[in-house]
Amino acid sequence: MSTATLPEVLSESARSFAAGPHRLLIGGERSDAADGRTFDTVDPSTGRTIAAVAYAGTEDVDRAVRAAREAFDDGRWSGIAAAARTRAMLALADALEARADELAELESLDNGKPVKLAKRVDVHLAVEHLRYFAGWPTKITGATLPVAQPSMHCYTRKEPVGVCGQIIPWNFPLLMAAWKIAPALAAGCTVVLKPAEQTPLTALRLGELALEAGLPEGVLNVITGDGETGAALVDHPDVDKIAFTGSTAVGREIGAKAGRALKRVTLELGGKSPNIILPDADLDVAVKGAYQAIYYNTGQACNAGSRLFVQRDQYDDVVGALVEAAGKARIGPGLDPSTQMGPLISAEQEERVLGYIESGKSEGAELVTGGSAREGDGWFVEPTLFSATRDDLTIAREEIFGPVLVALPYDSIEEVARRANDTEYGLAAGVWTRDLSKAHKLAALLRAGDVWVNTWSAGDPSAPFGGFKASGVGREHGREGLDAYLENKTVWVNLG
Ligand code: ADP
Ligand code: MG
Repeated sequence: MSTATLPEVLSESARSFAAGPHRLLIGGERSDAADGRTFDTVDPSTGRTIAAVAYAGTEDVDRAVRAAREAFDDGRWSGIAAAARTRAMLALADALEARADELAELESLDNGKPVKLAKRVDVHLAVEHLRYFAGWPTKITGATLPVAQPSMHCYTRKEPVGVCGQIIPWNFPLLMAAWKIAPALAAGCTVVLKPAEQTPLTALRLGELALEAGLPEGVLNVITGDGETGAALVDHPDVDKIAFTGSTAVGREIGAKAGRALKRVTLELGGKSPNIILPDADLDVAVKGAYQAIYYNTGQACNAGSRLFVQRDQYDDVVGALVEAAGKARIGPGLDPSTQMGPLISAEQEERVLGYIESGKSEGAELVTGGSAREGDGWFVEPTLFSATRDDLTIAREEIFGPVLVALPYDSIEEVARRANDTEYGLAAGVWTRDLSKAHKLAALLRAGDVWVNTWSAGDPSAPFGGFKASGVGREHGREGLDAYLENKTVWVNLG
């Protein structure tokens, strides 16, 4: 693969990694796919191929699972001192931090997101997640239980679940990889990680850095491929747990399969999150927050604030302020330092988003700004805002995963809480108000895994994240996130 098409602005280290070759990372070794297949990863800012990447088929998936099984069973990770796991994870976090510029460039190239944000958000938080979970190995404890029989000594052990298949999406590639591997590694599990076919580069780099940082071979295996590769991983009988972040449609399928096989499973899926501005809110702050809530990452976020409820008296002012802000957005390639909003991930995603925009128009919503794709290379869609009065429009019900906001007026708090909850999803919700009592009342009423008051998308490795209803199963981050990688064993000893 020629590197001639790679953007000029790439640093030497990012360029040399991006150029490839990109091989599977199994049992500490790089290898091509058994049948030699590859797929192309593409720069969404230009539509040009970055490099060919090994395509893992069933045989490769099996080899990766066997490598992870061997590494789990011989105790090279779960059997070492807890503090040694901490040290290796901290070394990996340091390695990512030391390469923050390179990783941000790779992420920006492969995903299209602004390089500054890739560094400040994606890489930074990936490091923070590894550091947070690196603290856990020495704090994983069972308990001694006060059982009724005095002759019995009863205690619990927290043991790693085993081999974990982890499947991640393309919107925050490195960060989602870190969210997944950090608790698994802390618990003593071994991992087969499958990044999305649109954005395989940073996960492959992460796998290499993990080896350099001293993670034993086979503890973190990285296999690249598409949904079929992911399905083969889910179907593999020797995988103990599946962790998935992606679309609700695929999540349902994975959940059903895991149910049949009785594998452990956590799912972080879609959303149609309501963002509610109360009449007493600081409107400048609320508008800025509402703007970021939907347009950040070009709307490609599971927790995007995609339904904006504004009280009727403020409605026109808020919509007007959002239109003004959208008109100033600097849209462009992620690697251009002045870019605020990058492209969508793919031609397919652009088509999907434009299809939703058409449905909004044809179902009678008012298009107040945006609505078009940019001519030329790359998949750029303008920040788009619809004003609507009906909650049953397709654009007000389905996850669009693009820069499309639907504003809806409301009259009373009771009404808005009911309408906010009238969705199959329940990932996040936002409330903008200076009234403490209303804030807490709404926080309790809203059926969502995260409720943000006067902010949007606040998150921390210690704070559980995940969805109610069709937005998922289980939680990531914090103790809850760790628990998803631990089995409980109760031991009874008859002392006679
Ligand atoms: P999107 O439609 O936005 O690309 P997906 O849910 O299809 O989101 O993809 C998220 C991740 O799931 C990707 O890594 C993808 O390759 C993987 N994937 C897609 N389909 C399946 C499947 N049937 N089984 C397992 N993994 C899948
Ligand atoms: Mg790509």
